[in-house]
Amino acid sequence: MLHFRRFLKIQKPKMEIYYLFGGFCIAAPQSKDLEAFIKFIDEELAPRSVNLLILRVDYNYQYQSHPELRDSTALSKTEVKKLVTACKMNNIQIIPQVNMLGHQSWAARPGNLLKVYPQFDETPLVKMPVNYVWPNADGLYCKSYCPLNPDVHKIVFDLIDEICDVFEAEAFHAGMDEVFYIGEEQCPRCSGRDKAELFAGEVRTIRDHLAIKGRNLWIWGDRLLDGKTTGLGEWEASYNNTFRAIDIIPKDVIICDWHYERPDQSPVYFAMKGLSVITCPWRNPGNAVLQAQDMVRFRKCATPEMKDRYLGMVQTIWSGAGQFLDNYYGRKPENTENSQVNCFKALFSEIRKMSETK
Ligand SMILES: [Zn+2]
Repeated sequence: MLHFRRFLKIQKPKMEIYYLFGGFCIAAPQSKDLEAFIKFIDEELAPRSVNLLILRVDYNYQYQSHPELRDSTALSKTEVKKLVTACKMNNIQIIPQVNMLGHQSWAARPGNLLKVYPQFDETPLVKMPVNYVWPNADGLYCKSYCPLNPDVHKIVFDLIDEICDVFEAEAFHAGMDEVFYIGEEQCPRCSGRDKAELFAGEVRTIRDHLAIKGRNLWIWGDRLLDGKTTGLGEWEASYNNTFRAIDIIPKDVIICDWHYERPDQSPVYFAMKGLSVITCPWRNPGNAVLQAQDMVRFRKCATPEMKDRYLGMVQTIWSGAGQFLDNYYGRKPENTENSQVNCFKALFSEIRKMSETK
């Protein structure tokens, strides 16, 4: 783990004496919200000693390697460098995310990768609906790309390399959550194959690519948990047998373990499997406080072998940055106790409290 710390060149946290990371995860801002978001970094994240920012970029960047995949409005290199500078000034490490494998469509729209390269679709026979509803006869939540397509990695590796370079990132978040379509009958390459091996194979392929340039892979943890046996269900855990991949993925992949309904104790499971883990709350302040306390307790009660696998906490925000800032600054307040804003504030105030009472 000392190696890991050196590897990420992490600044020693100013406040989170119990944790390596106190993090924040949000969609990368649109150009119009960039200045406001940088102000938020300076005035809200930095004073709370947030030291990690996971930015879900996807196609919100003017890729040079694949301009055909850019969103219609996308951040320029100059704009990204403004984010990089703001985070450097505040000792915040940025990890960019582009969704790999799953989340290749949303509602009735394909994502840019499958829109431009429909041949990568794992389920070409599933047509995008005019009006998306869940549940539906196709079991369509989000499309996946086929991990065994011989041409897909050339494209996504270009994106990964470019986004890591521009963000000067030492780690990359590949998403890989909520993969419902994998090893499908209609895919001539994947049908009949073991879904856990397919999932683990894709994790390893991306991990090995990143390792060439000394970068770490981060993913969401839900596909590695057994949804049925645990009762965690098919969203925050797997119902399609990918969970056995937990034993075959490389141990240096960092797991972002999200649980939004309960303070589930799954970090212990990941740590016992040899994987380093970060707990991620969303919008339940009470649970976030319990999860932050759990993280401290796990570290305190762990064997020396497992202790340093408990890496900390990341607040996840699932609205766009602009909308979150509207909520945060009261322009469009969320009139509910269980809000992302309240959860963020409660989490970091608990971390501060625990640090001060040590
Ligand atoms: Zn396939």
